[in-house]
Amino acid sequence: MKALVTGGAGFIGSHLCDYLTSQGHQVTVLDDLSTGSKENLAQLAAAPNFEFVEGSILDTALVDKLVGSCDTVFHLAAAVGVHTIVDKPLESLRVNLHGTENVVEAAARHGARIMVASTSEVYGKNDADGLTEDADRILGSPLKSRWSYAAAKGLDELVAYVYGKETGIPTVIVRFFNIVGPRQTGRYGMVVPRFVSQALANEPITVYGDGTQRRCFGSVFDVVPAVVKLMDTPAAYNQAVNLGGMEEISIRGLAERVIELTGSSSTIEYIPYEKAYGEGYEDMRRRMPDTSLAKKLIGYEPTRRLDDIINSIIEAKQA
Ligand code: UDP
Repeated sequence: MKALVTGGAGFIGSHLCDYLTSQGHQVTVLDDLSTGSKENLAQLAAAPNFEFVEGSILDTALVDKLVGSCDTVFHLAAAVGVHTIVDKPLESLRVNLHGTENVVEAAARHGARIMVASTSEVYGKNDADGLTEDADRILGSPLKSRWSYAAAKGLDELVAYVYGKETGIPTVIVRFFNIVGPRQTGRYGMVVPRFVSQALANEPITVYGDGTQRRCFGSVFDVVPAVVKLMDTPAAYNQAVNLGGMEEISIRGLAERVIELTGSSSTIEYIPYEKAYGEGYEDMRRRMPDTSLAKKLIGYEPTRRLDDIINSIIEAKQA
């Protein structure tokens, strides 16, 4: 495979590059280093089957050139993290809308296969017991920054889907559910690396709201091979597929787990949402994936338990 990984310097992207290069594939990364970092790819710098290009997915000519020289595109470049979306709404929207259109259009032009990364955010406030891919989306006003991200990602999916249908390029949409692992930074919001850093520093753990909101965290090491398998599975083409973990936990419960596993003396500090994200912010109460479609398509079965996931981040931060 000659793969282009947009957003390859990011958290999931860099793990995908590790995996693809280890399987002997040729990998080119396109990344603007906005939230990703070269450090995430340092281990690949000398690999003969790896190349890094610094640039934006908004650069149509560059995207066209890079897509034209590969056969498979993994499109993960995006403005990510709740803090990024809230702090830079215009830039986030431009990247998430026009950037994706650029990449998908180029894939269609050159007949490349493409995987487009999406998110469980598209389900919005639907707190069903297990969200299947055809579950309803329950979104607040698109004028609220949180929902503007879900709106943009929903359109990204539609762009991928319609291009796939009309041009026949093999297209897979993957909806990631709270994926965590080493290299994920808490700087842009993500809760697990934030809690681990706070616990290791014996600082208060910042739980937003009352901590009863629930999430299900998945391991990057479970989802990366699954993404590559899906790309090789024609039955997955033109579908959206959930990928995530299996254990649900409240955010308060997560804080307690992190304190226990780090042996920290941190206390838990409850911070009102308005203070954390600004006025008018709405959180999702619960978000639980149903991954039976991925199981049916590729035998997907998450293997890492929450404690393993938290421990892998503790180890990485202490290294
Ligand atoms: N959260 C928190 N403290 C933090 C960061 C996040 O309590 O320092 C909460 C956040 O409000 C949400 C959950 O943790 O309820 C997961 O947040 P994250 O941004 O990781 O993912 P998402 O909101 O997209 O599920």
